[in-house]
Parts: sequence; C-alpha cells; structure tokens
Amino acid sequence: MSNTLLVTGIGELTVNNPQAVDNSPGAESTPEPYADAAFIVERGSEGEDGRIVWFGPAPRAPAADERLDVLGRAVIPGFVDSHAHLVFAGDRAAEFSARMTGTPYSAGGIRTTVAATRAADNEQLRANVRRLVEEMARQGTTTVECKTGYGLTLDDELRALRIAKAECDAATFLGAHVVPAEYADRRAEYVDLVRGPMLDACAEYADFVDVFCERGAYDEAETRLILDAAKDRGIPVRLHANQLGHGPGVQLAVEYDAASADHCTYLTEKDVEALAGSETVATLLPGVEFSTRSPYPDARALLDAGASVAIATDCNPGSCYTSSMPFCLALAVREMHMSPGEALRAATLGGAAALRRDDVGHLAVGARADFTVLDAPSFLHLAYRPGVPLVHSVWKNGDRVA
Ligand SMILES: [Zn+2]
Repeated sequence: MSNTLLVTGIGELTVNNPQAVDNSPGAESTPEPYADAAFIVERGSEGEDGRIVWFGPAPRAPAADERLDVLGRAVIPGFVDSHAHLVFAGDRAAEFSARMTGTPYSAGGIRTTVAATRAADNEQLRANVRRLVEEMARQGTTTVECKTGYGLTLDDELRALRIAKAECDAATFLGAHVVPAEYADRRAEYVDLVRGPMLDACAEYADFVDVFCERGAYDEAETRLILDAAKDRGIPVRLHANQLGHGPGVQLAVEYDAASADHCTYLTEKDVEALAGSETVATLLPGVEFSTRSPYPDARALLDAGASVAIATDCNPGSCYTSSMPFCLALAVREMHMSPGEALRAATLGGAAALRRDDVGHLAVGARADFTVLDAPSFLHLAYRPGVPLVHSVWKNGDRVA
C-alpha cells in the first residue's frame, strides 16, 4: 500500500528541475525558487523508493493522505556529498594543529590513517561510518559517496568497500590512494596487486574506481594501468586530480570519461577546456583548501567555460575533517566567487551528476523524496549565515532521517 504526503507552507522551494536548467555557457544557471509552494511525496510499498509525484503552487495542490506544514521555511533538495572517505580509524588532530603553525600538507600523511585503520576491527570501522553518515544527515545531506583507501591490502580494502557499500549510497574502490610503506621500493608490484587481485575481489561492490593521480601518489602511467583495469571490468571511474599541483589527472579523467575529476585546484586553460567539452564533472572540495590553508580552485573559470561543477566535503581525517555541506557551500560562495544559487546547485544537482545519478539532487517529478527543510526563509541564508545550524529537518526516501 502506498501513501502520499503533502509538504506545504513552503516559503521558498528549490526544485532544480533538470529539464529547466540551462547548461549552455554563460547561462544564468541558478535554481528557480518558488514562493508559497508545495509538493507531494508518494511513499512506495516496502522496499520501494519514496518519490516526488507533484510540485507547484500550494493553493493548487491536490489532496494527499498526510500533510506536513513547514510554516514558511525554505525547502531544498537534500545535499549530495559525492566525495568522502569515511572508512577509517583514528584522528589526526595533532597533524592539523602542526599544519596550522607551518608544517605543509603532503599526501604521505595518509599512511598514518592506514596504520590505525588496519588495526581496527570491522565493528569499529562500521560504527565510525554510521556516526559520520548521521552527522552528515543532520546537516542536510541525503546522498553520500564513500571511498576505501586506508586499507591498502586486499583484505582491508575489501572489508572497507563492503562497509561503504552497506552504509552509503555509492561505494568507490580507492586501492590506489597512496603506495603503502611496505611497497615503497616495489611500486609496480603494488599497482599490479591493485589492478589484478584487489580489483577482482572488489569489483562486485565497486560503483566506481578512483586513483589519487598526484606527485607523491600515482603517476600517469600507473594511473592508466588501473583505469584500464577498471574499464576492462566495466566499472566507471573517477579521479583525484590536480590537487597539489599541475599534472595529467584532469586530462586522463576526460580521456577515460570519468564521472568526475575531483579537486581541480591547479588547472591550465587546456584542462578547463577539456572539462567543459566533456561529461566529466569538476568536483571542487573547498573544505580541503580551507583546512590545508591552500589556494582555492578557480570555480569561475570552470563555470564560465560551461563545465559541470559539483561541491563535496572530501570528509577525511587528514586534509579536511568536515562533514558539513553548508560549510562547503559557504566557502564556495565566499572564497570561490560562486553565486549562492550556483553553489546550491553544485552541492545538489552537481553532486548527483558526479555520481551519474538522475534521481537525486532535485525535487522534480520522479525524483527520490530526499529534501532538507531550512530554518530560514531562503536558501540564500546557507551562505549568508555561515556556521549557523540552519537545518530544521531532513527527509530521505520520504522518511524523516534527522
Ligand atoms: Zn579525497
């Protein structure tokens, strides 16, 4: 038996209707907020997703079984956090503290978390992921991508991926995060392990394969070997690209039709052009630049060239331990010169595109009923009132989750 829920009394509704969004370069690609709006959720029978079946002006709303009056609050699609590393143990607060007083960030710090993660049991790892997913939900996030990459042995990567798959909406195999210390002198052997036995074991659970293509992590030739292995198995790819310096990552992402190129902090004009001419989403992670005190990516160049842009947290214990999409959105506006509308769209529809999903990140008819009610009259307050807990309630699949 399905039942319907009318959500009404919405002061401002952001639908992000994918059909109504103009993606052409230079277009005013901001969301179109509706005033005095309503929508109807149909909750399916057991196991079926709750879906949006109608939206429009509140006075024209059809009847429904139940009614939720949000009393003039703004409603937005739930945030889609398309880049997070949640399967880990330990924390690196001391490293953060040292960084803030002058020690630079390097990819090698990942090995600290690898040691703690290997030493943790399954229940500890699972509990930590659940805690973070709940923390994200309380801040308005309804879709979470989660990567492996702190195990770096076949067994540790496989268990991390199975936990990610069970607890999150998308699971990404990142066996090629860094080269583990025990393989420092035989990198090729580790790359062969990742693209062979590890990928064989993980393929069943991997929605994506990711590689940290960066100086200090994996070079172009190594990245190609792993991307080829993913393609051979029919698994879509994404890349950590151009975070710490210029490099081949973005061009590889486009060449391999990656769902996203993540970070994009150091881009040449050619990189921007390549992204704009592709389906690959440029996923910007401004919490990382904030937490490592680094220059921000040039979001304006990407948007003005017509590239698809997403914002995500990169929640991880080393370079950025925030789980807050509202915080990242505020950074995108303040530090990367995105308009509040562009930032909201990147944090919802952009994240969905980065996960190749068309059922989340918007509230048009057919979308999964994932929405966030704000204690504010407009989504503009997300950037206008940084650091303020504006999330009133959060619904996923038609059910309240926070
Ligand atoms: Zn990352």
